Amino acid sequence: MADIIRSIRGMNDILPEVTPYWQAVEAALKDVLSSYGYQEIRFPIVEKTELFCRSIGEVTDIVEKEMYTFNDRNGDQLTLRPEGTAGCVRAAMQNGLLNQTQRLWYMGPMFRHERPQKGRYRQFHQVGVEAYGFNGPDIDAEMILMTARIWKKLGLTGATLQINSLGSTEARLAYREVLVTYFEAHQDELDDDSQRRLHTNPLRILDSKNPAMQALNEAAPKLIDHLDDESRLEFDTLCQTLTDAGLSYEINPRLVRGLDYYGKTVFEWVTDQLGSQGTICAGGRYDGLVAQLGGKGATAIGFAIGIERLISLLEANDALPEIPSIDAYLVAVGDAAAKQSLILAEQLRDQLPQLKLITHCGGGSFKNQFKRADRSKARWTLILGDDEISQRVVGVKTMATGEQETVAWDALASYLK
Ligand code: ATP
Ligand code: MG
Repeated sequence: MADIIRSIRGMNDILPEVTPYWQAVEAALKDVLSSYGYQEIRFPIVEKTELFCRSIGEVTDIVEKEMYTFNDRNGDQLTLRPEGTAGCVRAAMQNGLLNQTQRLWYMGPMFRHERPQKGRYRQFHQVGVEAYGFNGPDIDAEMILMTARIWKKLGLTGATLQINSLGSTEARLAYREVLVTYFEAHQDELDDDSQRRLHTNPLRILDSKNPAMQALNEAAPKLIDHLDDESRLEFDTLCQTLTDAGLSYEINPRLVRGLDYYGKTVFEWVTDQLGSQGTICAGGRYDGLVAQLGGKGATAIGFAIGIERLISLLEANDALPEIPSIDAYLVAVGDAAAKQSLILAEQLRDQLPQLKLITHCGGGSFKNQFKRADRSKARWTLILGDDEISQRVVGVKTMATGEQETVAWDALASYLK
């Protein structure tokens, strides 16, 4: 084993015992999204590096230190997507989708060179949702309500909704001055990261995960007290809609989001059950991005759910979805039975398209085949040997009770049904 080639640190294999949970969670997500009229879009995992630099922003954690960037054989500088918003906007612009409103979703792997730990990986998976061309705040409310419905569908109760408004670009710039003045007055209390951010991206200081920065951040002036009138009104309407819909939330004035492109509504769903990697869903409005990427201005809002964290949280809550089990395991002893078992299995599959049936391939004794049948957790074991072939029957053992019956081939489908 010593010399086998291992996977890249922070990039996980998702094994067959776990993939059924992923499939069930993904199916639930797709169900809810399509029930709101959201359509799937698929775009490449690799894009020009420039796309991410221009959209996410140069002074963000992602662009500064987390991107997987490389030159391909033509010398083009490319990056494995660290998130989906940039690629989705690019695809929508390039394909003329922004001429009308769009409700879109995508799902797949994202790549960030972070320090791997529980809930933080270098290849992780998101479902991302974006809506283009809606001014809000009605779509803002719809999206947030839709995330709440996703948790409901999954039976998840352990997450809290936090919301904030980042205001207009002008309001944010004015607030930035106020914030810099405040932090300058407390220079000696800033950690290294915050020192660095003070003049490049001071809002990000508020986003610090360093406990030593908490007190200082809590006492900082709040952006929500410096909003422009339009953002204020939209935020109040959003809050009122959520209240009327019976959804509880916390206003978190320090919620600024890590990426540059956000303005107005931002929100996160957080839990204290996953240690410090407690955000399972994050999003907000990013009206400026299309223009920033050279397109005609289109308003936009979106969010992304981290699927690894969502699954961990479901596990912590004992709420992992039920996994459909195998219906039947067909054992066949002897060459003639082995051959006939495949024919019989195909007939059953024709008659019962929903049937989950495993045929034992590869021979072996009854004892060994039964062991496999047991391990498969199938509801029935179907038994085919020389005797059964000559009588055109199968033995059907109900695994839960141990009862066994003999059923004619012709009657088998209706028996199992
Ligand atoms: P964090 O503050 O935890 O680093 P972020 O602000 O960088 O999160 P977003 O870019 O908003 O995260 O991504 C949306 C969601 O994707 C996060 O809320 C989280 O659930 C998930 N996510 C982000 N980075 C990772 C990662 N490295 N590993 C696993 N999940 C991640
Ligand atoms: Mg991050």
